[in-house]
Amino acid sequence: MKRLITMSISLGVVVAAAGYLFGNDHGQAGAASTFFSEAVAAEKAPEVSPVLARPRDTYYPNSEDLAKDEMRVIACGTGMPTTRAAQAAACFLVELGNGDKFIFDIGTGSAERLSSLQIPYDYLDKVFIGHLHADHFGSLGEIFIGGALMGRQKPLRVWGPNGRTPELGTAYAVQKMKEMYTWDLAGRVGLVDFRGYSIEVNEFDYKAENAVIYEDNGVTIRSFPAIHSLDGPVSFSLEWKELKFVFGSDSYPNKWFAKYAKDADLAVHECFVAVPDLVKKMGFTPEQALTVGTQIHTAPEAFGKVMQEIKPRMAVAYHFFKDFDTTAEVNDRIRTTYDGPLSLAEDFMVWNITKDDIRVRMAVVEEHTWAPPLVSKPELPQKGDREKYGKEMGVPVESLGYSDFIQEGRWGEVDEALRGVYKEASEALGRKFEYPTK
Ligand SMILES: [Zn+2]
Ligand SMILES: [Zn+2]
Repeated sequence: MKRLITMSISLGVVVAAAGYLFGNDHGQAGAASTFFSEAVAAEKAPEVSPVLARPRDTYYPNSEDLAKDEMRVIACGTGMPTTRAAQAAACFLVELGNGDKFIFDIGTGSAERLSSLQIPYDYLDKVFIGHLHADHFGSLGEIFIGGALMGRQKPLRVWGPNGRTPELGTAYAVQKMKEMYTWDLAGRVGLVDFRGYSIEVNEFDYKAENAVIYEDNGVTIRSFPAIHSLDGPVSFSLEWKELKFVFGSDSYPNKWFAKYAKDADLAVHECFVAVPDLVKKMGFTPEQALTVGTQIHTAPEAFGKVMQEIKPRMAVAYHFFKDFDTTAEVNDRIRTTYDGPLSLAEDFMVWNITKDDIRVRMAVVEEHTWAPPLVSKPELPQKGDREKYGKEMGVPVESLGYSDFIQEGRWGEVDEALRGVYKEASEALGRKFEYPTK
C-alpha cells in the first residue's frame, strides 16, 4: 500500500484517485492515514548521497523472485485495434508463485512486449483468448512461430471459445492460421527441432457460465459469456491460493461479469476511449462514436458502474489510447460512477499481488532482447518430420526443399568467402566443420 501510493505519485501514473487516497468503503480502510504516514515516513528517509544508490520503485524483468503466495500481472498490451508504437493491443501476463504463467489475450504487437520480459518460452505456452478480434489474438502467430524459434520446445496451448457455427470458433481460427503458415512451416520442417511448431487448441462453450476450463497445479480458470460484436466473446477468472484475477476481453457491461468477477483481487475490464475523443481524435461521426463507444464497448462511465458493483481490490481499465490529453477524460468519467482503487493501464504496468498488498509499478524493459535461456535442450530434427508434416498439411514431401531449378541458381562465387567462416569456426572450436558441397 505504501509503495503503491509512492509510485502513483512519483511516476505520475493515475493509479489512485481521490476516493482511494482519502478513504472509501472498498477494503481500503485506513487509506487516508496511510497517505499521511507516508508523508511522515518521507521525512525519515535516509540522507541523499552522491555515491550511494537509492531504492527504486520500478520493476526490472528477471530481477525479482516471485514469492510462493504471490501473483504478478504485467500488461503487455493495453491499446486498440489501430496499431501504435506506444501501446500494443490487449495482452495480460499472469505469473504465479507456483511457477505457472498464463497469457490472457495476445493482441497485435503484444508478442514483442512479452519478449521484452525475457521469460523462457517453454514457460509461455498457455494462451487464453477471450474473443477473436485481431486486437485480442493478432500476435498468436508471432508467439507460435517466434516462440518456437526462440526456444519453446513444446506445443503452444490455446484456450478459446467456440461460436454459433464452427467457422466462428477458436479451433477454426487456429487451424486457418496454421494453414496460413504452411509455407513458413514447410521451410522449417526437417531442419529444426519441430516440437514447438504445433498448437493444441482447447475450445469451450462460450455460453458456459462460470465453467471450469482449466484446472491444474492449484490453478482454476473459469469462463463466462461476454457481449461484444457477435456471440462468442468471454471473460475469464483465474483463482489460485485465495487470489482472484479476472480478465474481461471486450464486452458491453454484462450481468455475468457483474456476478462472477465479484471480489476479484485484480479485475481487468475494457474501458473505451471517451465518446468526445472518438469524434475528436479518431474521426468518428457522433453516431459512430455513440454506438461504438457505448454500445459495442464499455464507456468509462459504464466501466465505473461495473467496478462499483464488483468492488475489486484493484480495478484495471485498458483499451484506450492513454495520452496526456485523453487520460483525464477517461479518469474523470470513471470517477462519476466509481470511487475505489483504480489503475489506468498502459503497456508494462506491473501489479504484484498478495493477500496483504497490491503493489503497482511500471516495468523498465530492455528493448534489444535476444533469446532467453532454454528450459530444455533442442533435439535434432526427427526422421519422418517432413513426411508427417506433408501428410498433415497436404503438401507433397518432394516439394519440401529446393527444386533443382533453384538449387542450380546458387552463386558459387561466395564459396571461398564462406569456406573461411567454416575454417574459422573449426579452428576456434577445435573440431572439424565440413563445408556443405550441396
Ligand atoms: Zn473486440
Ligand atoms: Zn478490442
